Amino acid sequence: MKANKIVGVGWNYRSHLGETHAQLPSEPIVFLKPTSAIIGDGDPIRIPAGAGRVDHEVELAVIMGRDARDVSADDALSHVSHIAVANDVTAREMQNKARDTGNPWALAKGMDTFAPISEPVPLDTVEDIQDLRLELKVNGVLRQKGRTSLMIFPVAELIAYISRFMTIEAGDIIFTGTPEGIGPLTPGDEVVAKIDGVGILRNTVV
Ligand code: MG
Repeated sequence: MKANKIVGVGWNYRSHLGETHAQLPSEPIVFLKPTSAIIGDGDPIRIPAGAGRVDHEVELAVIMGRDARDVSADDALSHVSHIAVANDVTAREMQNKARDTGNPWALAKGMDTFAPISEPVPLDTVEDIQDLRLELKVNGVLRQKGRTSLMIFPVAELIAYISRFMTIEAGDIIFTGTPEGIGPLTPGDEVVAKIDGVGILRNTVV
């Protein structure tokens, strides 16, 4: 099933709010990434000239098995078929400039190769989607770690909220937010993102 869209969620871990000078959101912060940004395990992350600082963001990706339109939180996970490890690669300076001027983040989040995703595994591979350990290393150094239990809005609530306004179609992917420890990437870096029991995502920056 091919994704028609990637729905991104911003600021979904308290620990990430401070480092980006963000307020605790009262509702999920939702944005889109284009499917043209998707790459897989082993593919290079390409930083285009003029992109400025580009950051890694390890995230749990959720892949829909069937359309979700105005579903309840109780029913939401029955619409999910697979999960994966994702990196919500972000051109941080461009995003901050957009935030400051009230403009969209589309380019900062949507450049080619800015949506690496690991091989998906069935949702029932894991016992509890809200109790998974995430980490990300750059050149072998631990930069990010967190647990999905620390999400501000759990996955089921994200799906219920988004689907009130926008149909999340079968195959669509949700990037559920990043914990603390975001940092810049430079050409030559080896980025390894991991979620215990879900998978591993290795990309080199060029
Ligand atoms: Mg993110």
